Amino acid sequence: MSLELTAPIPEEPSVADDGTWLECIECGEQFAPFDDVRYTCDDCDGLLEVRYASPPTWDDFEGRGVWRYNAALPFEEGVSLPEGATPLHTVPRLESDVGVETLRIKHEGMNPTGSFKDRGMTVGVRVAKELGVGRLACASTGNTSAALAAYGARGGMETLVLLPAGKVAAGKIAQAALHDARILEVDGNFDSCLDIVQDLAARGEVYLLNSLNPFRLEGQKTIGLEILEEFFDDYGTYPDRIVLPVGNAGNTSALYKAFRELVQSGALDAEDVPKLTGVQAEGAAPMVEAIENGWDETRRWDDVETRATAIRIGNPVNAPKALPGIRETGGTAVAVSDEEITEAQRDLAAEGVGVEPASAASVAGLRKLRENGTVSEDEQVVCLTTGHLLKDPDAAFEAGDDPEPVPNDTDAVLEHLAE
Ligand SMILES: *Cc1c(COP(=O)(O)O)cnc(C)c1O
Ligand SMILES: [Zn+2]
Repeated sequence: MSLELTAPIPEEPSVADDGTWLECIECGEQFAPFDDVRYTCDDCDGLLEVRYASPPTWDDFEGRGVWRYNAALPFEEGVSLPEGATPLHTVPRLESDVGVETLRIKHEGMNPTGSFKDRGMTVGVRVAKELGVGRLACASTGNTSAALAAYGARGGMETLVLLPAGKVAAGKIAQAALHDARILEVDGNFDSCLDIVQDLAARGEVYLLNSLNPFRLEGQKTIGLEILEEFFDDYGTYPDRIVLPVGNAGNTSALYKAFRELVQSGALDAEDVPKLTGVQAEGAAPMVEAIENGWDETRRWDDVETRATAIRIGNPVNAPKALPGIRETGGTAVAVSDEEITEAQRDLAAEGVGVEPASAASVAGLRKLRENGTVSEDEQVVCLTTGHLLKDPDAAFEAGDDPEPVPNDTDAVLEHLAE
């Protein structure tokens, strides 16, 4: 099976362009990467993956940010703002409170538009230029639309975003609006938006930049590469586990692909690959359900609800790539409540790290897995926080303390403080 951790370097097919091609993860059919617009397999509709004849080694990387890793990407450079090179925070109080040997926070909210989606878009919009397509589009719980709008603007291209009406955090719509995307609010949830935009793409109306697009995941691989490099610099080892929030499971798939390619090239031993550990909200947890039941695919949840709007997804499109990633690395998946998410958001804030609710799910999940003994006290763990606090100001207000009104007078202010 081609998604095994120890799958050998693939043989370069005749359809390859400069050592790069697309391959169906279900039937193995291979396609030229940039001749036609294609999101899934022509033969079986399976998910496609970008494949390389020469997977990267550590020595290939130079520079900073996503394009440092261009040896692992289909192009030398992209439409850039620039992105990546995000902080890997230490959080000493939280680390001892959760009770693991090492806890680091990879804060993807520090990307140009405030989420990891920028890493995918810098590559995705570059591919759109290569293909010569017109209008770019995505369905989004918010952050993908913000990233698409900004990178589309940067690339001088028209953008269209479909959002679930009333379910997108304020900061994200504001970004899409100001970067001049055409915004359609659909009377339905994220999964319905994705159904519609896939139909539009199939009819040739738009170029789809959801994580179904295999090129976006190439950019997102660089999260895994950055974590491994920086962690190794600091500790001389790789983390035992990476814990991340899961929506469409694009990131889970992308990190797994990054590790698989390093194993292929010999840059990383299979035993050193971190355990990929996914966290979902209890009200939107089809991946957790599939892992717990040992299923090869997820069951679509029609009714999903959680305060963590970025992971309010009932039909994770990348599940066929992500489920093997969790299993092959010895990881797991866990669901957390909205209360646990808000608690973790406060815990991170108390260390100075401001994140949106979905991001805090990773820390909430780690805490739960430590408490039930799945994670042991001697583990070295990296939690991914996917989006910035300012993305969802309403959630931040709700989780934080209320401002206190005082009179316009110093003595009265002192009196108030003494109360
Ligand atoms: C998109 C997003 C997610 C979900 O990521 P997937 O790759 O779809 O699993 C999680 N958190 C935030 C903040 C996001 O924007
Ligand atoms: Zn196929």
